[in-house]
Amino acid sequence: MEKQYIIPIFVPHLGCPNDCVFCNQKSISGQKNNMTKEKAKEIIENYLKSIKEDDAQIEIAFYGGSFTAIKPEKQEELLKTAYEYIEQGKVESIRVSTRPDCIDKQILKRLKKYKVKTIELGVQSANDYILQKANRGHTFADVQKASKLIRRKGFKLGHQMMVGLPESTRIDEINTAKALIKLKPKMIRIYPVLVVKNTKLAEDYQKGDYEPLPLVQAIEICKELVRMFADKNIEIIRVGLQNTEEITTPEEEKSEVIAGPYHPAFRQLVESSMWYDAIVEKIKKLNVKVKEVEVIVNPRDANNVIGHKKENIQKLKDTYDVDLILKQDEKIKPGKSQVEIIKTYKDFLEE
Ligand code: SF4
Repeated sequence: MEKQYIIPIFVPHLGCPNDCVFCNQKSISGQKNNMTKEKAKEIIENYLKSIKEDDAQIEIAFYGGSFTAIKPEKQEELLKTAYEYIEQGKVESIRVSTRPDCIDKQILKRLKKYKVKTIELGVQSANDYILQKANRGHTFADVQKASKLIRRKGFKLGHQMMVGLPESTRIDEINTAKALIKLKPKMIRIYPVLVVKNTKLAEDYQKGDYEPLPLVQAIEICKELVRMFADKNIEIIRVGLQNTEEITTPEEEKSEVIAGPYHPAFRQLVESSMWYDAIVEKIKKLNVKVKEVEVIVNPRDANNVIGHKKENIQKLKDTYDVDLILKQDEKIKPGKSQVEIIKTYKDFLEE
């Protein structure tokens, strides 16, 4: 299978007409200066040099601010730069991320011209009251309109949603996932809200007006959302913000994060916890008190079955007094498992 690579080019806050309460785009994108075609070229060239496979599938992604809110000349400059690599056969496609109220037919025509394939919309919530509290400056109707237009014009649609926005509850987040599924995105990113320095949210947090989700709760909600999207075959491309020098644990001096459910392996925590639930469910169905089980999974799932720092193995032992032995087998489909009893409690007592 061809390996897929994304060359990320962060376009910091450029052109974004807004100031969402949680966003300090400059620190999240890890770049303080404006993006130029020279810088974009440098980033692309450096990435290309590091990719060794001849048949790699490479995509250039403009992330960060709201790409389609940038001045049209700047969009053209950056798109043209990326498009040159498509023409040379070095890159397959381009993706951009933007706000739902910065999409119209004219904008999409420009993106089509430069062979943009994927458009990701920052949705955050399907609840207009929560959007307003987050100072998003758009409504969910904008998301619906933009999503339909993007799909109708033949682009791949992606959505980004948040968990733990001010006044948002688990039910709001589940309702957001339900509303997004109806819009048929091909992919989704799920971001638990972190409190970042120099944002309105940071002020509210310091005044005691905003309380971020604890890590455990963020994991529990993300688990439900991941299940919902996975059931509909929507690709989950990210759970939790990408670690950078600035988006890291609040204990680090350079960290821009003050509080919130930060973890360097957030997605692994979510997926491991889902595996734990699945294994416990299977063990409960065995209808006999077990002492030792063998769990056979695809090698791709092995780390998640064991859990971060072997957490699942330990939890199973502490909670159910069951020893888990992991076996890897390529023949098992990723995401599936076989659980076999090695020793029942009766065997154990008779030993
Ligand atoms: S729309 Fe995006 S870039 Fe603009 S302030 Fe909000 S989160 Fe930041």
